[in-house]
Amino acid sequence: MEEVLAEVAAAVEPHRGAGKIADYIPALARIDPRHFAIAVADREGRVHGAGDCDLPFSIQSISKVFTLALALERVGSGLWDRVGREPSGSAFNSIVQLEHEQGKPRNPLINPGAMVVTDQLIGEGGADAAIARLLDFLRAQAGDPGIEVDAEVAESESRTGARNRSLAWFMKSFGILGNDVETVLSAYFRHCALAMSCRQLARAGLFLAFDGRDPVSGREVMPWHRARRINSVMMLCGHYDNSGEFAFRVGLPGKSGVGGGILAIAPGHGSVAVWSPGLNEAGTSAVGALALEALVDRTGWSVFV
Ligand code: GLU
Repeated sequence: MEEVLAEVAAAVEPHRGAGKIADYIPALARIDPRHFAIAVADREGRVHGAGDCDLPFSIQSISKVFTLALALERVGSGLWDRVGREPSGSAFNSIVQLEHEQGKPRNPLINPGAMVVTDQLIGEGGADAAIARLLDFLRAQAGDPGIEVDAEVAESESRTGARNRSLAWFMKSFGILGNDVETVLSAYFRHCALAMSCRQLARAGLFLAFDGRDPVSGREVMPWHRARRINSVMMLCGHYDNSGEFAFRVGLPGKSGVGGGILAIAPGHGSVAVWSPGLNEAGTSAVGALALEALVDRTGWSVFV
């Protein structure tokens, strides 16, 4: 695997720096676009890496996979009364569809859908307790107590979050959110601002590649049917309005974030995290997607075999 990853890194080298950095969040605009990292966690729990795979980056919307996992555990399938599971075919922060569909977001991986999920995660302890539970979960899965929220990124996003605030208030007007808008957004901005390295992220997502079980400890993180469903939502909705393109080129469930990270799940094989900050027009890491394509070319991993 180390050799495969070195080949993948060499294959994307001529493209390093391609794409456009997400500058609508000021704290992200300063990142060097030439960063590249890839890590693969395998069945034995070994994490192989290349490039800047120990450097934490802003995981942004990749966090939505983990909040979905925790919200499903907390409220069960009743979650689907408030959020759908269809691809949206529009941008991650689009408001148009919400009006047509009476405030119920299409899926949990676009911004309004993730806000509904976050709302459902918040219990008695408020937003702080929800974030603490998420951190506990990620640290336990990654086997690394060092995972933190980048407070500067969260603050930067909150300060410039007019569009997300509009989406949240719009849903509030339809009665979809139970908590106060600012409470939901305070948790939402913080989970998007989680800083993780590719190594930590690949290890944290490993249970999704093994039917909800950690393959090393054998412990059930979630029932197998829930893990499969999360993978199916990632497959169909994980990359904004280029989810079809990603499925076509990579053939694995995945989730992109505007920080330039992608988490991809190869069921039965392992979990892959890539990071390269430049995004394509839809908001997926341009070089990250190329790297995943190069990886599946070499490993033959696909959900369609
Ligand atoms: N925190 C970002 C936002 O709400 C997440 C976007 C993304 O990574 O897709 O705009």
